[in-house]
Amino acid sequence: MNGNTVHVAISEFCAMMETISSSIYLAQSCAYKQSAVEFNAFIATLDHLIMDELKYVDQFVRANRVNDLFTILDDFNIEIKPIIMKNKMEYYEARSLSPYMEKVKLLSEAIVKQFLSIYEESSAFYDQSWRTVDMHRSSFCCKSCGALITTILSHIGNLSSISLIENESYLPRLTYVYGYEVIRAELFPGCGADELIEDEIIIPVEGLYMNIKKQLAHDSTEFTIYCINGHQIGREVADGHAPHMVRLPKDRIHRKEIVDHTM
Ligand SMILES: [Zn+2]
Repeated sequence: MNGNTVHVAISEFCAMMETISSSIYLAQSCAYKQSAVEFNAFIATLDHLIMDELKYVDQFVRANRVNDLFTILDDFNIEIKPIIMKNKMEYYEARSLSPYMEKVKLLSEAIVKQFLSIYEESSAFYDQSWRTVDMHRSSFCCKSCGALITTILSHIGNLSSISLIENESYLPRLTYVYGYEVIRAELFPGCGADELIEDEIIIPVEGLYMNIKKQLAHDSTEFTIYCINGHQIGREVADGHAPHMVRLPKDRIHRKEIVDHTM
């Protein structure tokens, strides 16, 4: 390289980093929207060195928009100045541009490919072997009076069909899941996520039995739910920034198995 080509190389590199950063972002959002479960499971398998490199791309793009990040050395090799780490007082070390360029190309291609495969197929990464799925369909009754609270529901077969998208149903139709399962699988629905408890059943809103009574809670993001005889049995999360669901604490309800002999 010489004094003229060095600036061309720098601007080409910057353009490449912008492209890499937005392709990773797009592929990541597609994968997440397709299956948040698979996405989370995949991210959990990533080596921390790879995660650091992904963060570096992000930080580089941000920093490059406000600062001059390049040092041109006497031999016309280019060095990327140290960049501050996100939310930390530390810096990434200076990097030599040419070898880094090769490395980041390979990394981004591999990672985009992974996200797209989640988008296209799903179900490759998520280990659910620890689960025991209830064999029979069930409905749930009020523990105090025995009144029916839900329609007939099945224990969700594949946790990957849970949706973490706001304003959509957390669960597929006519299914239920236990609190401890979604906690272990880290399928937190965002708003108020940290309050999910081990000892509760989660069902979709339309799984409630028709004669259930609802009362809007004071903050209007929740309904309190009562059985036909007025016993409080749970809460419906109706927050516009979270998936919708009904939460029934296990000490308020009773599970009734429906053993279907015709099957
Ligand atoms: Zn009751």
